[in-house]
Amino acid sequence: MSSKKRVAIYGSSGSIGTQTLEVIKANHDLFEVEILTAHTNVDLLITQALEFNPNAVVIGDEKLYEKLKSALSNTNIKVFAGEKALEEVAEFDSYDIMIAAIVGFAGLKPTLKAIEKGKVIALANKETLVVAGDIVMKKALENRAPIIPVDSEHSAIFQCLVGEANNPIEKIILTASGGPFFGKKPNFLVNVKRDHALQHPNWSMGAKISIDSATLMNKGLEMIEAKWLFNLNPDQIDVVIHPQSVIHSMVQFEDGSIKAQMGYPDMKLPIQYALGFPERIKNNFPRFNFKKYPNLSFDEPDYKTFRNLGLAIDALQSGGNKACVLNAANEIAVWAFLKNRIGFLDITAVVEKTMEKITFIENPTLEEYFESDGEARNFAASMIKL
Ligand code: NAD
Ligand code: MG
Repeated sequence: MSSKKRVAIYGSSGSIGTQTLEVIKANHDLFEVEILTAHTNVDLLITQALEFNPNAVVIGDEKLYEKLKSALSNTNIKVFAGEKALEEVAEFDSYDIMIAAIVGFAGLKPTLKAIEKGKVIALANKETLVVAGDIVMKKALENRAPIIPVDSEHSAIFQCLVGEANNPIEKIILTASGGPFFGKKPNFLVNVKRDHALQHPNWSMGAKISIDSATLMNKGLEMIEAKWLFNLNPDQIDVVIHPQSVIHSMVQFEDGSIKAQMGYPDMKLPIQYALGFPERIKNNFPRFNFKKYPNLSFDEPDYKTFRNLGLAIDALQSGGNKACVLNAANEIAVWAFLKNRIGFLDITAVVEKTMEKITFIENPTLEEYFESDGEARNFAASMIKL
């Protein structure tokens, strides 16, 4: 057996997926690619498969199976298609670590399968924890499946906690860049268009998370993600605007001491950390120079303008299926905004009305989470008249 870590990249065609492949390419003595999956970008999946020669590939959209199969017909790569295949391949014995980098609710089921097999999960797909964090964390514990965050803030907190196992957290401080509309007011936001909202000042990311960053929903989702990852109460999770994105997040301990993890904003760092954990891997990424950044600044979030953050805090405090409903409505609303079907501020209205409408369930089963997700999507879509 090879001593390299064998990696399954779920969502290999995306922003996190492609950056993961860059990290693997630079460290081919440590890692090998075992599984690649993409939803619709079959051309990129073919290119990646031919370059990295995985054991298996999955294309989410079944209509693209034939194209993928024939392009890889001269190889030994196993080819699969469809939602069910994503789950079945996640149960393969032949890999060690899953990079969970599918966007949205669609990432939940395959990640659960990997957890049930006791795999290491490098989790980028925050929606998995937002939707069903209690069940995901319980299953991870039962199956001894370590969950290592890839989201930069959570990676920062995870790194600050190394060596602190017996020291309780007083609180965590999640940093937020503020997104492209930091300082703007509703009279400006009402006219914001898709292309402007997609321009993030510090990070280059997939479309959905870019919009979530612009509305601050991303930070709300990250508060919920942090609650589950680090077993926190809502009042232990603070958010501070830090436009330079140099401090990736902080942990405050019971003696008042605060640890921060810092560096240039580059997702390859948390990806590499999760892949290599517990070891750090030497690289030649640019080093941060304090003298060139004399002013790191901090600010209070504008909860009045960016109301999504308040809605997410409501979901965080309420528990039950509230965050699942928030997430589903937000996925529909962001999709509609990306299609120019609704305005920027309508995203919040859709989420808020859906949260009011869907029946609250205090302790949902997994099936009830799926039902809540479906109901919330239908209600949100009916408001948008898709
Ligand atoms: P992306 O849109 O660039 O890529 C998404 C990937 O998911 C693609 O490979 C796509 O094929 C796949 N996918 C989409 N819908 C699917 C479906 N229904 N079924 C199966 N596969 C599907 O997104 P991204 O920016 O790489 O983000 C991925 C996840 O990582 C998100 O949950 C995001 O919140 C999280 N994340 C991303 C960043 C970042 O810098 N991009 C940072 C932190 C966290
Ligand atoms: Mg983040």
